[in-house]
Amino acid sequence: MKVIDILHEKDVTISFEVFPPKTDDKYAQVEEAARKIAALAPSFMSVTYGAGGGTSQNTAAIAADIQNTTGTPVLAHLTCVSSTKDHVRRMIRVYKESGIENIMALRGDIPKEGRTVFDYNHASELIYDIKSQDASFCIGGACYPEGHVECERPSEDIAHLAEKVAAGCDFLTTQMFFDNNTLYNFLYRIREKGINVPVLPGIMPITNKRQVARSISLSGATIPQRFRMMVDRFGDDPAKMKQAGVIYATEQIIDLISNGVTHIHVYSMNKPDVAAGIMNSLSEILKS
Ligand SMILES: Cc1cc2nc3c(=O)[nH]c(=O)nc-3n(C[C@H](O)[C@H](O)[C@H](O)COP(=O)(O)OP(=O)(O)OC[C@H]3O[C@@H](n4cnc5c(N)ncnc54)[C@H](O)[C@@H]3O)c2cc1C
Repeated sequence: MKVIDILHEKDVTISFEVFPPKTDDKYAQVEEAARKIAALAPSFMSVTYGAGGGTSQNTAAIAADIQNTTGTPVLAHLTCVSSTKDHVRRMIRVYKESGIENIMALRGDIPKEGRTVFDYNHASELIYDIKSQDASFCIGGACYPEGHVECERPSEDIAHLAEKVAAGCDFLTTQMFFDNNTLYNFLYRIREKGINVPVLPGIMPITNKRQVARSISLSGATIPQRFRMMVDRFGDDPAKMKQAGVIYATEQIIDLISNGVTHIHVYSMNKPDVAAGIMNSLSEILKS
């Protein structure tokens, strides 16, 4: 089923993300985690694409496995900046043949060692490509409530986002953020610029101390004082940090839903227990 139809059909949705194994020996482990997360009945699940496309076959295989064995609709990610047009078009065909109807179309990070292929510069070019190869795909795009790290002016980033939506994005998913006011402010600014597709806030449950530095450096997200105090208090005790992190993420979700932002994407990071903690706390809220 297409994500855009799910968003129109359901009042409140929770979706979860998994990432594919980097090495084949971890495949069964990731497959099992993905199936356990699917058993929690999310509205859909997304499968990320390894930076540089090196694990692209695993993305396609995990995505097809989730959809075919659990019936959960899947959103398969695809990046373009390190790939040739041939490779990207092959991946689109693989997704199609696997029955996948939704693609998260991304540029991908510029490799630290520099680029070796120059077939794509921006996600919008990938979106055009997917649409011209097969217009029936439902397409998601990424957006950045605090601005993309490479773009100095938030207003320029929003102008580029408008181009991306014009290229054919059906919905957007945000980078992680830890203060919901950041999201409300962003929504106000993009709606003012005529970007009216559904926006799914991306919520990252931070469940261990190491994740904090990594998540901030990858996303550039601002860390509120409330969050800082939580990590300071519980960061050295893994069990306490995990519980506090799941509750923090759940509180963010409840606040979003209370304010009418009702389609939420959770970066569940192959952790069924974290996904279950969130789903259990929302069991009544998710009833239609
Ligand atoms: C929800 C989500 C999911 C993600 N999933 C993955 C994944 O599976 N695999 C992975 O490797 N990475 C993933 N990423 C990370 C993403 O690949 C990086 O953030 C990447 O740096 C930007 O990708 P993009 O698709 O947003 O790029 P773009 O939309 O192309 O934007 C990148 C930068 O280029 C600028 N720009 C866009 N168009 C133009 C233009 N016409 N002229 C000048 N500048 C322009 C933008 O302002 C921005 O600064 C994800 C990010 C998010 C938020």
